[in-house]
Amino acid sequence: MMLTALKQAQLRISRLDRTVITAVVLLSSVFPVELFPNTLPASKGLDGQYSGKQGQVLVVKVNGEEQATEVKGTFLKRTIPFFREFRPGEPAGYIGLLGIDMQDEPGAYELAVEVKQGEQAKQLSFNVLVAKEKFSVEHLKVPKETVDLDEKSVARWKTEQEQIKQALAENSRLKLWHSNFREPVNGKRTGIFGSVRIMNGKPRNPHNGEDIGAPMGADVASTNDGIVRITVNHFFSGKGVFIDHGLGFYTMYFHLSEILVKDGDLVTAGQIIGKVGATGRATGPHLHWGVKLNGARVNPYSLLDLPFKNGSTPANSTATPIPETTSVPEAVPVKQ
Ligand SMILES: [Zn+2]
Repeated sequence: MMLTALKQAQLRISRLDRTVITAVVLLSSVFPVELFPNTLPASKGLDGQYSGKQGQVLVVKVNGEEQATEVKGTFLKRTIPFFREFRPGEPAGYIGLLGIDMQDEPGAYELAVEVKQGEQAKQLSFNVLVAKEKFSVEHLKVPKETVDLDEKSVARWKTEQEQIKQALAENSRLKLWHSNFREPVNGKRTGIFGSVRIMNGKPRNPHNGEDIGAPMGADVASTNDGIVRITVNHFFSGKGVFIDHGLGFYTMYFHLSEILVKDGDLVTAGQIIGKVGATGRATGPHLHWGVKLNGARVNPYSLLDLPFKNGSTPANSTATPIPETTSVPEAVPVKQ
């Protein structure tokens, strides 16, 4: 017994060493910026490490839990449901998509994963390093009444916020998407996700999606399979569609000139759901494409980097977590 305990302790120490070494290597290669100027953050988990920038999506894989009945993660108080992944000739595994919110503070955090098998539960703990993304600063000049809202507009905005909150409170418990994610419109990506917005000289909320420039009336397609949770015509977003892809994964399409789906409609990847417009607060026709992943506002283009082709991860996906280094291209400030 004693020997086993000692061995276990040694194992833990060596794993800790490895994690720290990985952290050092990662910090010098992936994060040349002075992310942690004074000391390295202490590791928060011993079962592996992931890293990514603000607004990115990380793919977390838990292998060899074939008998598990439920796998669930917790990261910064957000719940990450894991889903089963089958590939012929490979051990069954569970995948969790971890969204780093665009405003999560840089640092080291724990991703705690609970693997349930009937009455029994096993805990896994991963270290997740969140690095700072360099978001651009946007200076916008917009009509005064669209930023300094009158009382009536504030009341309308609050009601609309509440409507969205209620519509999105229930997540589909099933994974509804089955293929790779795709760009919703043929157009020019402006790269302003996360940009700090200064409107008429005053700082406002950061831009929580990506704007894609496209001509008025261009087709807007659903990025993947899902269910239309709500369609709106709101003060800021104009005519908008919210699609629930299941497991806490939502995509949003704003400023449409026309909406071609109804609440509750099932949509497939690539299905045309509306037309590009300039409704709501927009100075010209474009699509505002947003993503919420288990409460985190992530860069929609990080969906396109996900290794899901025909609904599954590629064969080279390994049992050992690999650091995510996919970076978001440098943001280009543009006028809205
Ligand atoms: Zn936008």
